[in-house]
Amino acid sequence: MKIVKESQGGQGTAVTGEDLVLINALSRKELKAEEVYTFSVRLCDNEVDRDLERFAPRTLEELAPLFVGKSGIFDHQWSARGQAARIYKAEVIQEPEKLTRAGDGYCWLKGYAYMVRTDSTKDLIAEIEGGIKKEVSVGCAVERAVCSICGADLNRAACGHKKGERYDGQLCYASLEGADDAYEFSFVAVPAQPAAGVVKGAGRVYADLKTLAAEHPGCARELEKLEEEARLGRTYLTELRQEVVRLGLLAGMGLDCETLTGMTDKLSREELLAMKRAYGGRAEERYPLKPQLEYGEKATLDSEKDRAFLI
Ligand SMILES: [Zn+2]
Repeated sequence: MKIVKESQGGQGTAVTGEDLVLINALSRKELKAEEVYTFSVRLCDNEVDRDLERFAPRTLEELAPLFVGKSGIFDHQWSARGQAARIYKAEVIQEPEKLTRAGDGYCWLKGYAYMVRTDSTKDLIAEIEGGIKKEVSVGCAVERAVCSICGADLNRAACGHKKGERYDGQLCYASLEGADDAYEFSFVAVPAQPAAGVVKGAGRVYADLKTLAAEHPGCARELEKLEEEARLGRTYLTELRQEVVRLGLLAGMGLDCETLTGMTDKLSREELLAMKRAYGGRAEERYPLKPQLEYGEKATLDSEKDRAFLI
């Protein structure tokens, strides 16, 4: 059973002699400390995720050696063709003081990755060092998904317990058990916008962006800027919707204001623009504005011409 999960990208780490031995065990040619860049990645953890699944702590322990030697590729947003980071070490980090949704002590699988420093990886390394937010999409195979309440193998039979509900205070979720294999993974650049990625990445530790911002002044400034941008975006969309409704009425499609408003409320910016063009075209056929405009333009041009003689 193949599992794909997303997690946070990591931070730069210093290369120790011990690291170098592990790296050289994987690399084709002998590398020196200054030739490699290393950073850590949060591969996966035992938190119950959006799909109401979690890796059992033991599964994380089993996955650790399976990830060693696996490559992580960077998505197209990093404009990095053929660039990859390789995991040379992985270990489970225990943070028992922090509890998961299921009430267990938190633990996570930390991967240590390296990249060879070259001209083509220079920019990418600078971005990682600059702390550009990113997610890691991790793929692995586990033997079974088990009901946290009764232990039934959910791939074989439904047990009647519903994921997300509580039974005697115990959260029901699917526990992923028995690591079979780990696959290559990918780094996904997260745009600096309030996209799901940012929230999810931060969501592992913080409940929401506001809580995160309260503790980190840098994040607070970013959040403020994003909120301002979001406000502008909402104003633009509201105006665009109103314009589409107006043109829709002029186009005489037999739709009333209420229906049109209801329709536009559900549409994205692209869809609204397409509708604006379509309705605009129809409206113009019914109420031609062009001749007047042309006349208007001509009139100004004429007066401009006249002005040449006004000395
Ligand atoms: Zn069950």
